Amino acid sequence: MRALVFHGPGDVRLDDVPRPEPGPGDVLVQVEVALTDGTDLKAYRRGHPVLLGPPPSPFGHEFAGVDVETGRRIVAPNSAPCGACPPCRRGQETLCEYLFPLLNGAYAEFILVPERIASRNLLPVPDGLPAELAAMVEPLACALHGIERAGVESGQTVAVLGVGPIGLMLCAAARDAGAQVVAVGGRPERRELAREFGAETGDGSGADVVIEAAGTEEAWRQAVELVRPGGTVLFFGGLPRSTAVTVDAYRLHYEELTLRGAFHHAPRHVRAALVFLASGAAPWERLVTHRVGLEGVVPLFEDPPRDLLKAAVLP
Ligand SMILES: [Zn+2]
Repeated sequence: MRALVFHGPGDVRLDDVPRPEPGPGDVLVQVEVALTDGTDLKAYRRGHPVLLGPPPSPFGHEFAGVDVETGRRIVAPNSAPCGACPPCRRGQETLCEYLFPLLNGAYAEFILVPERIASRNLLPVPDGLPAELAAMVEPLACALHGIERAGVESGQTVAVLGVGPIGLMLCAAARDAGAQVVAVGGRPERRELAREFGAETGDGSGADVVIEAAGTEEAWRQAVELVRPGGTVLFFGGLPRSTAVTVDAYRLHYEELTLRGAFHHAPRHVRAALVFLASGAAPWERLVTHRVGLEGVVPLFEDPPRDLLKAAVLP
């Protein structure tokens, strides 16, 4: 089968590889659509210690497709917690000791969902939900986990820094939680789109909760500056390992800031995300701005179009 394979930073090739053979409990999926996302773009440019294993590595992690054996339309995220290790027993499933390796290989004709994921996190696609929307279940699950981690409550003001696909998903999720949402930054057309995802635009200063979703050091610092005394900052966008960010100790201590990180998702977020997508509560289809074949992914990552949010990859 044809599959995009990560051979190293900036070196992704369309290779001919054997179709995976399912073992007991594994589910072989014919990929209907895979979606590009910012994490894959980062991984393409500089490699990714968490997302990808040692090269050559399968690539792409957002997908929806058809279970080859049953013909069911299914979707699955890129991991499942074990449910038995100490973090899982504490309810911190995103810190599961057996979360890795994450599932990759969505930029291919077929992907094998291993038993550990298929048994806990593989879901049927609701009737009528297009595959390219169902494939958003993984990033939206991350956004829902982020809103949970930030402790967003009805009536709060939530500022979201960064209006990429994940920022827009965070806007929709915070709005759905009853918050007044302010999208910060971005070009005029992105700010306009943020309105459709439930956000007003503004500078975000004095917000009860500030969510960093730009994945830059500058945005991490800005998030701490913007939050009100007693407020919460959620660091959603990951930075390269060993990055150090300084925090104003006065604000942290005398203004009792709460600083939290958020990573990944748990099965309950995956289930909720799929329902949220099927609800049509936000114009999710606006997040897919491009459609390409497997051969179109590298050119897209080499020179991302200005208006790219997510590309649907049709193998
Ligand atoms: Zn575990």
